[in-house]
This record gives sequence, structure tokens and C-alpha cells, in this order.
Amino acid sequence: MKVLIAAPLHEKAFDVLKNAGFEVVYEEYPNEERLLELAKDVDAIIVRSKPKVTRKVIENAPNLKVIGRAGVGLDNIDLDAAKERGIEVVNSPGASSRSVAELALALMFNVARKIAFADRKMREGVWAKKQCMGFELEGKTLGIVGFGRIGYNIAKIAKAMGMSILLYDPYPNEERAKEVGGKFVELEELLKESDVVTLHVPLLDSTYHLINEERLKLMKPTAILINAARGPIIDTNALVKALKEGWIAGAGLDVFEEEPLPVGHELTKLDNVVLTPHIGASTVEAQMRAGVEVAEKVVKVLKG
Ligand code: NAD
Repeated sequence: MKVLIAAPLHEKAFDVLKNAGFEVVYEEYPNEERLLELAKDVDAIIVRSKPKVTRKVIENAPNLKVIGRAGVGLDNIDLDAAKERGIEVVNSPGASSRSVAELALALMFNVARKIAFADRKMREGVWAKKQCMGFELEGKTLGIVGFGRIGYNIAKIAKAMGMSILLYDPYPNEERAKEVGGKFVELEELLKESDVVTLHVPLLDSTYHLINEERLKLMKPTAILINAARGPIIDTNALVKALKEGWIAGAGLDVFEEEPLPVGHELTKLDNVVLTPHIGASTVEAQMRAGVEVAEKVVKVLKG
């Protein structure tokens, strides 16, 4: 059996496939024409968010039995075409949960203690001690919007940090909530009561601009908002207004409505915002887990 790896994967993922006795072909991000050529005699293709596995590729790969996506989103794979041919699609949705959770917490600490601002000032030669009054997270209320894999990982750490936890999720997992001492409430109550609000919902029609002007106005003027889920979950224009006019105290953002964030964007001009370029899953551990997990799933499909 032959497996095409069409995106960079951790070397341990290659080992999983080779140890299973498969021939492994590697080419980084081939274009569609090249992918068509490479895929014509393979049993499996493994990709990341790139390249696109189009209908044309799927229909011209007669031996193809499984498509693996190292990571979460499946939007670069034509799922209808795969389904029509009975090709399985596997991914590794939990591989980066801890990494994203740790990044969200890093953003919380950073905003609460004004670390990025202080660092910028130090480099300008300014000792901005007076402007850097922060607050502790212990004893504060953390509102987690979306209590899935990432939300749960954050809650476990937040509990150990001595934070009170409010949760909002249309599909509440009471057992996990109990484990972390969290309480499910309505979104409006969570926004009103929390000192830190962190978003971990998928981007759906129902979560598009979930955090809008009206909801930002419910938050405490001392509160901070973290988004390491997807940019369009927050109405960016409303957030910029909220940050400028002091409806909330600050924000930590890993994701944006437009990525990369346009140069000179309003957000880059605000001192009470910490920005990172969608690096939630960018850790050695998450990348390794994603590759190994998807390789193991591909082996399972091919070996039956
Ligand atoms: P998950 O599916 O385990 O959890 C999502 C939770 O959101 C579920 O419990 C679901 O019931 C809940 N939910 C759905 N609709 C909701 C709504 N309207 N309001 C509140 N909750 C709602 O997903 P996860 O693995 O925890 O990931 C969450 C999101 O994080 C992903 O969808 C992805 O967009 C994002 N993510 C970002 C990065 C990054 O690099 N920053 C990396 C991985 C994932």
C-alpha cells in the first residue's frame, strides 16, 4: 500500500506509516495538477490545511481509500466527493487542545499584567512602571464560552489557579463541569459576571458575531476578552469601539476576521490589546500529536 504525504508532518508520523509496512511518498504542498499525478496510484493521502483535495483529485485516484487531515478543519477536502466514493476522511481534532488552552491562558496573563505593552515601552527606553498596574487571576471569575475540548483544558488549569468558572454551551457536559467546579449559565449572565471571557466555540452561522456590540456592553469595564477560536466570532468593529471607549479593559486575540491581519489595522494601534498570528496549535507537541494521530487512523482504515 502506498501513502502520499502532501504536507509537512512530524517524523514520528512517517515512522507510524513505515512501521505499518506502507510505502510513503512525500511532497510538500503540490498544486492540483501535481497532486493529480501523485495521487493516481495511492491508497491514502495525508494533508494539513493545504493542499486542497478536490473532487477532480478524488475522482482520479482509483485506489484511494482514506484521506487524513493532520489537524481539525476539513474545508480543504471535498467531503461530498469523498463520501460518494466511500472514501473515509480522518483528522486529529484533539491534538492541539492543550496548546490552544495554554495560549489562551498566556494571553490572559499577558493582558492582565500588560506584558506586551511593558515590553514595547522597555524597548523604547521607557520605564512604564506606573502605567503597568495589573490584576491577579486568582479569585477572579473566568467565563468560558464553548465548553468542548479546549474549554475543558482551560478550565482544569483555571481551577488550579483558584479562579471561579462560569460556562456557556448549548450542549452542557455536566460531569466535566462538576470536575472543574464550573457552573453553566446563560451567555448574558456569563458576560456580566466574568472578569475574563474566553471564546472556544466553533465558527458556525449561530456563532458568527456572537460577541457583538450589545454583548460587549454587558461585560465589566475591568474585564478582558480572549479569542483563540475563530476571528468572525467577534464583530471586530464593535470590539475596536469597546476597547477605545473603555467598555472592556483589554483583549487577547490569536484569530481575526481577516487573516493575516491587515497592516496598520486599528487593533494594532491599541495598547490594551495583545495580538498573536493564529499560533494556537503552533507547538512541537501539538504538531507531533496531530501527525501521529492521523497516521495511526490512516493505518487503522487501511489495515481494516
Ligand atoms: P469542540 O468541538 O471540542 O468544542 C466546541 C464547543 O462549543 C462544544 O462543546 C459545542 O457544544 C460548543 N458550542 C457550539 N455552538 C455553541 C454556541 N453557539 N455557543 C456556545 N458553545 C457552543 O472544539 P474545540 O476542539 O474545543 O475547539 C474550539 C474551536 O477552537 C475550534 O472550532 C476552532 O475554531 C478553534 N481552534 C483554534 C485554534 C488556534 O490555532 N487558535 C486551534 C484549534 C482550534
